[in-house]
Amino acid sequence: MYCQVIVDIVHENVAKPYTYLIPEGMELRTGQRVAVPFGRSEKEGVVVGLSAEAEISPDRIRAVNRPLEDYAAIPPELMDLAREMAGESHCPMAETLRLMLPAQMRGGRVHPRTEKTVRLAVSPEEAEKAAEASGRGGKRKELLRILSDGQERTLKDLGTMVRDPREALKKLQQDGLVEIFDTESLRTPGSRFSGTGDPGYILTPGQREALDEIIPAMNGKGGAFLLHGVTGSGKTEVFMAAVRHALEDGKGAIILVPEIALTPQMVSWFRGRFGSAAAVIHSRLSAGERYDEWRRIRRGEARVVIGARSAVFSPVHNLGMIVIDEEHESTYLNDRHPRYDTREVAVSRCRREGAVLILASATPSILSFAKARRGDYVLLEMPERVNDRPLPEVEIADMREELEKGNRSVLSGLLRKALKDCTARNEQAILLMNRRGYHSFVSCRSCGYVVKCPNCDISMTYHIGATDGTLRCHYCGNVMPLPSRCPSCGGGYIKFFGAGTQKVEEEVQKLLPGVPTVRMDYDTTGGKDGHGKILEEFRSGRARILIGTQMIAKGLDFPQVTLVGVVAADLALNLPDYRSRERAFQLFTQVAGRAGRGNLPGRVIIQTYKPEDPVIGFAARQDYRAFFESEFRRRRNGLYPPFTNLARILVESAQEQVADRTARELDQAAREILEDHPEWRRKILTIINDPPSVQFLRGKHRRQVLMKTLVSPETEAFFSELTDMIAAPFEGAEVYLEVNPTTMI
Ligand code: ADP
Ligand code: ZN
Repeated sequence: MYCQVIVDIVHENVAKPYTYLIPEGMELRTGQRVAVPFGRSEKEGVVVGLSAEAEISPDRIRAVNRPLEDYAAIPPELMDLAREMAGESHCPMAETLRLMLPAQMRGGRVHPRTEKTVRLAVSPEEAEKAAEASGRGGKRKELLRILSDGQERTLKDLGTMVRDPREALKKLQQDGLVEIFDTESLRTPGSRFSGTGDPGYILTPGQREALDEIIPAMNGKGGAFLLHGVTGSGKTEVFMAAVRHALEDGKGAIILVPEIALTPQMVSWFRGRFGSAAAVIHSRLSAGERYDEWRRIRRGEARVVIGARSAVFSPVHNLGMIVIDEEHESTYLNDRHPRYDTREVAVSRCRREGAVLILASATPSILSFAKARRGDYVLLEMPERVNDRPLPEVEIADMREELEKGNRSVLSGLLRKALKDCTARNEQAILLMNRRGYHSFVSCRSCGYVVKCPNCDISMTYHIGATDGTLRCHYCGNVMPLPSRCPSCGGGYIKFFGAGTQKVEEEVQKLLPGVPTVRMDYDTTGGKDGHGKILEEFRSGRARILIGTQMIAKGLDFPQVTLVGVVAADLALNLPDYRSRERAFQLFTQVAGRAGRGNLPGRVIIQTYKPEDPVIGFAARQDYRAFFESEFRRRRNGLYPPFTNLARILVESAQEQVADRTARELDQAAREILEDHPEWRRKILTIINDPPSVQFLRGKHRRQVLMKTLVSPETEAFFSELTDMIAAPFEGAEVYLEVNPTTMI
């Protein structure tokens, strides 16, 4: 027998499978990892096929060295998925196969952890006899007595009952009375995510109706749903009921969340209801824990997986359902190679495995809602909150009027009063400020020079530290002291502009002395469990006001929150990206949805200098449909995605001339591809060599060739050619192809 192996090397020339001989007596299956000779060394690979015959002459074929595990690490459905993704994202299969395995498994960096375990080798009666015969007391007697109930015990456990049992056990083993062997011990992640039990809710009519569509699909051939439920409509409860159904049916489920650290509640709900049947995959697991959780899933012991996007590749047995919660979040797009959209992967996986897909959000992405309207997904709507709770009232604070009134602070009169009232009633508030730090930039009073990062063409943000202030670059992390003189003209007066979370926190503390606040942004959430500590501070009620960047807008459920303030709505609206309106609407609606989730009604205040902006209006009315219609029309008229693709070839180089030259060459080469393929030309709307908005980043000069294309098979073929073209190394420059990336700075 022969097998075809994809060798785990990512290189154009090694992309195809290699044929190896399976030595006599070795059993291999598709999806199994093997060690194979490759050139003069040994490499790891994955068996992608088996055959009785070899296509090349047998004397030139080398034999597999050994299997790396005694089971197929990648199940057949995931093998197919890897093959399909390699085709679609124009990359070698070695690369997509890597997605299917925990990274630590490659190169044999982690192994199962084993523990010495002991059990009787004879019947309990014989053990009892031997214990009697061994005379008075002694460890032998004690050990035999303990083991005579027939249970296996780890050496470690025995050590807690009998002091230093090793010697005695060795003797018992020599006498043939006990067996000592290795068992695998799982490194289960700590109890940080211990759960809460089932509250036994009676489902709302909305929840019931949604399940009435989902469950039959799960019993049948599967299906794809877009669950559009307003904030607080109880979407999680729908997932949980569906998961329970899947488990009862002997099926498994995958629940994807944008970021595990920001969804501790979801995790604890699932842990509470499904106990050890749930595996939680997150980035703070140790290599060993991650590997063991993966093995629990692979062996079918864990049947519900909760994790961020990469968990979509979990080897869940008999998959019944994939849920993508907050499906509009951009974390579901993997920008790194191999590029993938988790939603697309899930669609393909569910179709292949006959499972149900649920995309859920209060603010679905334009793309997904458009697909639902077209019939690709069944639209399920939950327009009402649980227990007839009203959606919060939204008011707009016009910051231009505040300026005219002489209020130069970041908080409007309206929001100040509301904060006072809210805390006086002993309720909680959340303030969204979508920028961290204290001041967003500093400049010289005399010459106007703005302090920029030496590595990036980006202004430095002023942060207040424990002892002094520093300037930080939010792109590369560079930190420098505040200059005492202007680096340009030598002037001695520095001016500060713009506010960040630190400034907001300071103003709140001035306004409400003695009211404890907590700040959640990139600066305060470092370290192990940084997010968890802050959220706990707020949940417990010790902190009354939570101030943070967009990370506070995700699915948190704090019943005591009755006030939400969007401090600077314009920050989100003014980003130079065709998606900024969509993201702003989602952000405002999501954060507004944090108010009034308990028995108390909620109130939301959006502060803006542009109250007439339609997005502000849609958010204030929480009218998703109206927003969707307006945005859909704008995208169609302006030829933006999803009607087109926005792609670019990005060039980065330490030398400006090299970046310039390479971009010019690539621009030319892209046009030449079209000359060779006139039939593609109609689909490629524009190709221009136009520098990106940030031309210098992390010490590299950047250029780009921007492309707008229609969505078509010809376009895919064009991108495929571009991929091949840029696979060749470029002298002194790095070149990337990005198709609809999450950001295009
Ligand atoms: P969403 O994700 O749609 O914003 P959640 O799933 O967080 O909403 O649910 C909002 C709140 O309502 C949660 O505290 C949840 O425990 C509660 N809840 C959900 N379903 C019910 C129900 N049927 N009866 C009572 N409370 C419910
Ligand atoms: Zn920088």
